[in-house]
Amino acid sequence: MKEEGIPTTFRIGGKIYDRNRYGQEEEEWGADRQPCHDCGVSKGELHIFGCDVERCPNCGGQVIYCECDFDDEFIRENRAKI
Ligand SMILES: [Zn+2]
Ligand SMILES: [Zn+2]
Repeated sequence: MKEEGIPTTFRIGGKIYDRNRYGQEEEEWGADRQPCHDCGVSKGELHIFGCDVERCPNCGGQVIYCECDFDDEFIRENRAKI
């Protein structure tokens, strides 16, 4: 999947945050050795939305489940489907 059209930032509560890329998580997911176990991206790439490894830049929780108030329609729509 290409990054075109995929937001590189999130808007949460009116603030802009850079998304966390694979390898920036606090947990060790083996980014130096293997692609993301969930969405398959390589180290330094943006997770495909819906990946359970991607961390919220605001609270550090899982983007797909955290309680933050995302302003992006893209996120709201996709979270509603999960
Ligand atoms: Zn991922
Ligand atoms: Zn959050």
